Amino acid sequence: MTIKQELERLSYKRKNVYEELTENQKQEMQSLCDEYRTFLDEGKTERECVIKAVAMAKERGFEDVASKKELKTGDKVYKINRNKNILLAVIGSDDIKNGINLVGAHIDSPRLDLKPNPLYESNDMAFLKTHYYGGIKKYQWTAIPLAIHGVIFTNEGKQITLNIGEKESDPVFCITDLLPHLAKDQMSKKMTEGIEGEKLNVLIAGMPIDADDIKEKVKFSVLKLLNERYGITERDFLTAEIEIVPAFKARNVGLDESFVGAYGQDDRVCAYTTLKAVFDVENPKRTAVAILVDKEEIGSAGNTGMLSAFFGMTVAEMIEKMTGKCSVVDYNTVIENSACMSSDVSAAVDPNYEGVFEKNNSTFAGYGMALMKYTGSRGKSSSSDANSEFVYKICKIMDDNNVIWQTGELGKIDQGGGGTIAQYVANLNMDVIDCGVPVLSMHSPFEVTAKSDIYMAYKSYVAFYNNR
Ligand code: MN
Ligand code: MN
Repeated sequence: MTIKQELERLSYKRKNVYEELTENQKQEMQSLCDEYRTFLDEGKTERECVIKAVAMAKERGFEDVASKKELKTGDKVYKINRNKNILLAVIGSDDIKNGINLVGAHIDSPRLDLKPNPLYESNDMAFLKTHYYGGIKKYQWTAIPLAIHGVIFTNEGKQITLNIGEKESDPVFCITDLLPHLAKDQMSKKMTEGIEGEKLNVLIAGMPIDADDIKEKVKFSVLKLLNERYGITERDFLTAEIEIVPAFKARNVGLDESFVGAYGQDDRVCAYTTLKAVFDVENPKRTAVAILVDKEEIGSAGNTGMLSAFFGMTVAEMIEKMTGKCSVVDYNTVIENSACMSSDVSAAVDPNYEGVFEKNNSTFAGYGMALMKYTGSRGKSSSSDANSEFVYKICKIMDDNNVIWQTGELGKIDQGGGGTIAQYVANLNMDVIDCGVPVLSMHSPFEVTAKSDIYMAYKSYVAFYNNR
C-alpha cells in the first residue's frame, strides 16, 4: 500500500455526488427533479401539498385507511388530518410489534398570512394586511410578484378555494418598497428594522368605483369584485386561511441546470422525495410510513403539527386493523422498536457567507444526503441528539445501498441554529435521526438545492424503507 492509499484509507473525505453518478443515474435524477418542480408549482401551501400527495397516492393504489376494516401485508393506505397533514403507509410482512420505519417531513413553509381583517384603503389604493408565518427576512418579500392561495368560507358555509397569481393570465400582487432616492433613513437602519412587519401590506387594487357619495371607493370596488367572483363579503375574511406566497415558478438554476431554485423547498424537497420513496417501496418487511406535517415553522404545535396526537392515533388504528387489537402495551412496543428519519433541510455552506460556517462540520450543496446526529442551537438546545448506535445503523444502511451522504451542524456554534420535528418524534420514545437536503438561501422566496442531493435524499429513504 502506498502512503497515498494509506492516507485515503485512514481519512474521511466527503464526495461530490456529481462525480460519482453514472449517466443513467443522472437521467433518473433529472426526471425526478422535473417532476419535483411541478410538485412545487402545484403545492405552494400545506393544503395544496396534501391534495397533491393524495392524488399521487391514489394513482398508485393507496386507499383511505378508514375504508379498510383490516390491514394486511402489501396494503397501501393514507389518512388525512384536517387537510393539512397526511400519513401514508405500506404494510410490511413483519410483525408490526417489531416496529415501523418512519420518514417525517414538513409541508408548511415561511410565508405571509392574511390578518383576520386584512382589507383597507389608503391614498386611493387597496391593501391586504399580513402577519408573517415562520422565520423570514422581511426585506426579501418586498418588490417581488406574489400570489394569493387559501380557503375562505362564505356566510352560507360554502368553501371557496383561492388561487390567484399562478396562471400566466392571472394578475399578481406585491409589497411595495421605498425608492433608494428617498431611503436615507431606511438604509441606515439595522436590517431587522429596515422593513417592519406592519409594513408588509399587499397591494391589491387601485381603481375607484364610480359613485359619488362613498368614501373608500377602491376598497368598495375590491369588495364588489370579490363578491361577484367568489360570493364572499368582508366578514368572511375573519374565518379564512389565506396565504401570500411568491408567484414565480420553480426553475432550473445554472447553465448546467445543476440546481433547483424555488419557493418552499424547506421542506417540500424532503416531503416530495419521501412521497416518491414510499410510493416506490415494494414488499417491505417493516411497515413503511411517511408523515407530512404542518406547523413545523412555528414550533410543530397545533393539531396538524408533529406535536399533535394524530401520528400516534393513526399508528394505533393501523395496529388494531393489522392485529385485531391495540392495547397501550402493544402501541408502546411498536413505537419503541420503530425508527425514524426526521427529514428536514440543512444549511448548505454559502461561499458568500463562509464565515458563519465551521467548514469541517457543515453540509455542502452537491455532496449528498445530510445525516445529522443533532441540530439545535447554542449547546444543542432543541435537538434530539441521536444515540451513536442508531446513527451507526443508519449510516451503514446508506453505505450498503450506495447512498452518498455527508454530515454537519447548522453553522457555527454561537451563530444561531434551528430545531426540527426530530425532538418530538424522539419524545415518543422512538429512535430518530435528523437528515435532509442542504439548501442555499433557506427561508427566502427563492431557495436553492442541488439536484444531486435531491436524488440522494430519495435514494436514502428507499434504502431505509427497504431495510429490516
Ligand atoms: Mn424545515
Ligand atoms: Mn424552516
